[in-house]
Amino acid sequence: MNNEISLKILGSRGSMPVEGENFSIYGGSTSCYQVLAGDEEIYLDAGSGIFNASPLKNSHITILLTHMHIDHIIGLPFFLALTEKDRTINIYSQERSGLLPQDAIDRLISPPFWPIKISSYPADVNFKILPKKFLVNGDQYHFSIGNVSVDAIEGNHPGGSTIYKLSYNGKSIVYATDFEHNSIESCKALINFAKNCDLLLYDAQYIDEEYHKYQGYGHSTPEAGIKIAEESGAKKIIFIHHSPGRTDKELSELENKIFECNKNISFAKIGDEIVL
Ligand SMILES: [Zn+2]
Ligand SMILES: [Zn+2]
Repeated sequence: MNNEISLKILGSRGSMPVEGENFSIYGGSTSCYQVLAGDEEIYLDAGSGIFNASPLKNSHITILLTHMHIDHIIGLPFFLALTEKDRTINIYSQERSGLLPQDAIDRLISPPFWPIKISSYPADVNFKILPKKFLVNGDQYHFSIGNVSVDAIEGNHPGGSTIYKLSYNGKSIVYATDFEHNSIESCKALINFAKNCDLLLYDAQYIDEEYHKYQGYGHSTPEAGIKIAEESGAKKIIFIHHSPGRTDKELSELENKIFECNKNISFAKIGDEIVL
């Protein structure tokens, strides 16, 4: 059994998938990250990046969904493990906009939009509902997936988005996608939540100069990310949820500029694997 926790970037494009030579380094697939820890194989979101996954043979598969925006679930019907008859897949999410996770997914992935529902695939899929309580009063919710300890708080995003922390063998990963920094309380909560974590994935969709146009859309900037990273003491920070039109050239220029000030920060590149 593996004592390390690792994270592989299967997709980190925000909002919609893109393709072409301008997107080959940072990638065009939407949000999906594969975390391996012991016997557990955990996917953070099921954007189009989940199509890039090669599920391990005897692992326990869990999908932690942050919210139901289309870019975070659009890859689900293409997840290879769904076609395996003896596979159990547990999907965790919140009730959002009055819809339980399964009902929300069935609304998108069912006729006439898609020929079958997720429950019609050969794999045994279980939906696990995270309690609503912690959304309301800013609490933290704790549960376990095998030997992986999971904590969750609610992030600042239209319709809400769950922020997850995965801890295993003394190492921790915080996944803060679809988060906007325009609420002091939410930033404080995230800074506390990510205190001294080993890896923080942070939404930096907009560049600082364009943020004013997109305020309230539910995404953040590198500038806010640097502040949160430094105040939380996160050891390594990866900026995610790249704007759909942001090219490799633009992202790499931005990344180089930030790297001069903070060597612990990089931008998510498709296929990269981080072992903690
Ligand atoms: Zn998104
Ligand atoms: Zn969203």
